[in-house]
Amino acid sequence: MKNHIDEILLKKDLTKQDLVELLETDAKDRKKIYTLSAGIKKNYVGNKVYFRGLVELSNICSKDCYYCGIRKGNRSVDRYMVTEEEVLEAARFALDHGYGSMVLQSGERTDRKFVKMVTSLLDKIKTLSEGKLGITLSMGEQSEETYREWFEAGAHRYLIRIETSNRELYYKIHPRNSKHNYDTRLNALRMLRTIGYNVGTGVMIGLPFQTTSDLADDLLFFKELDIDMCGMGPYIEHEATPLYAFRHLLLPREERFELSLKMVALLRILMKDINIAATTAMQTLDKMGREKALKAGANVIMPNLTPVKYRDDYLLYEDKPCIDEEAEQCITCLEARIHLAGDEIGYGEWGDSKHFTKRNQQQP
Ligand code: SAH
Ligand code: SF4
Repeated sequence: MKNHIDEILLKKDLTKQDLVELLETDAKDRKKIYTLSAGIKKNYVGNKVYFRGLVELSNICSKDCYYCGIRKGNRSVDRYMVTEEEVLEAARFALDHGYGSMVLQSGERTDRKFVKMVTSLLDKIKTLSEGKLGITLSMGEQSEETYREWFEAGAHRYLIRIETSNRELYYKIHPRNSKHNYDTRLNALRMLRTIGYNVGTGVMIGLPFQTTSDLADDLLFFKELDIDMCGMGPYIEHEATPLYAFRHLLLPREERFELSLKMVALLRILMKDINIAATTAMQTLDKMGREKALKAGANVIMPNLTPVKYRDDYLLYEDKPCIDEEAEQCITCLEARIHLAGDEIGYGEWGDSKHFTKRNQQQP
């Protein structure tokens, strides 16, 4: 006998109400969502997982997001900047180990010195890898000129999470000032698309004050924006941040994890051919979190290549895993994890999102 959830899952287009009901499913019914999303992943993007070697370039940040451990206002963080030679070493490692791409992520800085430093790094990574390594940037909100400069220097993907598509909630988790403006963030996504980047965004799941209706809207927001990539994961509290005061409002960690997994699965159902990351935050709440995310529909994983001596200082949230493992150990562990999830690794491929490639082929 088919129940109501089976009927929803048979529909071609899911409405907001359908998404809310799916997000609220219990243990028995949520398995049906995962079965459907796993099938869609296999059919549309295959069972290949792409590696992006992640370098957390710097924890120096000019912003004060209420949830983030490296916010400017947290005076107890030792600030660092990875050296150029260290980034190039990570690039060589990525290349030698058959990773198709790198991700450079950082606290937000818009000063000319920083912008130039990133441009020069991009040039050098391109030269060193003879153009073989794809490069994703995640450096927050920048001017259009900066985005263009970096695109021309060889970055071709950009990740900037909207954090939540609910404007009111956005202002509950950020200070209300010109540096933290919802419209600026939204506009950044539009600029990046116009310039020609593969555009990625995402949200945090299980934030205080967030409802399943907000999360359903987030999924529809991704669809509306026609994004190419998504990285999302659970919100995880950090003691030295203002949002910590609301931790009594949080879902228990297991439920927060399950909700995040459902978000991944539902996004795969809604946007069949985009790239979806199995994020580190998923692994923080569940030891097998990234494998479960891969099974539920994710197809990208970002092994951390940040030199170990800096990792303690890039704690966006508590209990971040793998902060004391060298890259070499990480890769062995990850390969095993991916095979466990029944996937294979797309060695040596950029692995751009099929969605991006298709959209660009359609344009005259
Ligand atoms: N400064 C850049 C990139 C680094 S932060 C930016 O903000 O875009 C990268 C991501 O870390 C953020 O987008 C946010 O979604 C996530 N993050 C920060 N604090 C977090 C927390 N406490 N729990 C879960 N994710 C968090
Ligand atoms: Fe800075 Fe990004 Fe953290 Fe906000 S989320 S404080 S912009 S590093």
